[in-house]
Amino acid sequence: MTVLILGGTAEARDLAAALVGDDRDVISSLAGRVRDPSLPVGRLRLGGFGGVAGLADYLRTSQVSALVDATHPFATHISGNAASAAAQTGIPLLRLERPGWADHPRASSWTWVPDVEAARAAGERSARPFLTIGRQSLEAFLPWADRPVTARVVDRPDFTLPTCWTLLTSRGPYAYPQERRILIDHRIDLLITKDSGGSHTAAKLDAAADLHVAVVIIARPVPPQGSVVATVAEAKAWCDTQLNDARRA
Ligand code: NAP
Repeated sequence: MTVLILGGTAEARDLAAALVGDDRDVISSLAGRVRDPSLPVGRLRLGGFGGVAGLADYLRTSQVSALVDATHPFATHISGNAASAAAQTGIPLLRLERPGWADHPRASSWTWVPDVEAARAAGERSARPFLTIGRQSLEAFLPWADRPVTARVVDRPDFTLPTCWTLLTSRGPYAYPQERRILIDHRIDLLITKDSGGSHTAAKLDAAADLHVAVVIIARPVPPQGSVVATVAEAKAWCDTQLNDARRA
């Protein structure tokens, strides 16, 4: 009667808390990349499973009754692995994915691009860009050694950044005054970000609009087919149903 939550997001932690609060047995899984991660309540495992075969094996040996993929919308490999492992084992899978920013009131004023390379091409004429795209995606922007890029990440990347760049290390949520201050202090003329969605990192979009800073936004990758919900409450209800069915079986 165990739920495995593939995590790394606030929603994953909230779901773990809701299930543990109901005395459900939960294992949260984190990739283990962030140095000092925010930890969920309940049981925890860290690190990759070893691809689809490793995840399928883990689901069987840990007697998982329900699998929730609550990973970040841009974590495509683990979501693909979850879909394949669930199909192989017959264990029910739900995707918990917060809504994106396509419905944001300013969304039509942004330049939407499909990936990081397209984002770099779209921002080529920016003199003072602000990158909030995650540590791993920064590598695609290293050719911008000719301009004062400001980049914000949770942990420093393990590759060398151009000396004219400014690296800000912090973890959200971020409030509007703080975001506005960064745009002003670094004289930002372009914000490049991903459609992460949710409210924790959305204030920068409002600050950019108010300061007439252009926005390039990387659209979400297409998720694997399957059941998807947008809220923790819906995911919790789904888990309750799966666990009750498993108990009756
Ligand atoms: P990814 O490219 O989809 O995954 C790469 C590999 O990392 C996976 O194949 C898997 O290794 C392992 N992995 C990823 N998430 C895992 C998890 N929750 N538990 C155990 N193993 C996991 O993922 P990513 O984009 O590097 O993101 C890594 C983690 O950071 C994700 O859990 C995600 O929720 C979180 N995160 C990502 C972003 C982002 O922008 N991508 C932003 C915020 C948080 P094996 O194949 O060996 O199992």
